[in-house]
Amino acid sequence: NTNTTPILELRKLCRYFGGLKAVNEVDLVLQPHALNGLIGPNGSGKTTIFNVITGIYEPTGGEVVFEGQSIGGLDPYIINQMGIARTFQNIRLFPNLTVLDNVRIAYHTHAGYSMSDAIMHSKHFDKKENELTEKAQDFLRVFNLQDRQAEIARNLPYGEQRRLEIARALASSPKLLLLDEPAAGMNPKEAITLMELIHFIRDKFDLTILLIEHQMRVVMGICEHITVMDFGQVIARGSAQDVQKDSHVIEAYLGP
Ligand code: ADP
Repeated sequence: NTNTTPILELRKLCRYFGGLKAVNEVDLVLQPHALNGLIGPNGSGKTTIFNVITGIYEPTGGEVVFEGQSIGGLDPYIINQMGIARTFQNIRLFPNLTVLDNVRIAYHTHAGYSMSDAIMHSKHFDKKENELTEKAQDFLRVFNLQDRQAEIARNLPYGEQRRLEIARALASSPKLLLLDEPAAGMNPKEAITLMELIHFIRDKFDLTILLIEHQMRVVMGICEHITVMDFGQVIARGSAQDVQKDSHVIEAYLGP
């Protein structure tokens, strides 16, 4: 039954840095279309997991299986082309390019255009250009950034830069989207609006989402399945209700 084949599986995944076991035998299963939260105190290994899934780091041990295929240690570019995209904890846009070009550049990879096609406004590329522009504008509309397309990315308010980052990640047409603290630096109201938007894009683009958050309450309302980490290991998993009352989780968050 293909419906129950996980889109991503981590099997006893390990990533050590010298003697530090940043990720230590982590098992994780993501079902297609699920909205998953990965939470845990700072330094518990969440971002390292993203870095291993996306090919920035090779696993020290264990396996990363994406759609049945082992991808551990593959090149980040290949992994992105296979259908995994991410955002970063610290915004990584092209700060001096326009909002539109930031998305056009991301889209070109998927569409097989060169980077220069995406940013040079040469007449030879009129047709491609129009297509790129229209696709990019579609993504901007989803994120309510269509009126900002001509602005230089670094001049956008912080919350809009965060949305633009997600728009860029989506432009590579991922099946699995990894979001690293997308609500970082937002006030509670902005965070709730963003979580609703994440829910919306999950359905619109038929994505599977894994999102990192260190504040538990931000993910509680939106994530269907939550994995809690501490010191490189999974200490609890399940629904928001389940993990919230788990004594290990309470201890990890409140400290000894
Ligand atoms: P989280 O995302 O949960 O805050 P991280 O995955 O960023 O945690 O970090 C887990 C641990 O691994 C931390 O102790 C961190 O200092 C360490 N770490 C992460 N990346 C590196 C690296 N490149 N070199 C050495 N230590 C690292």
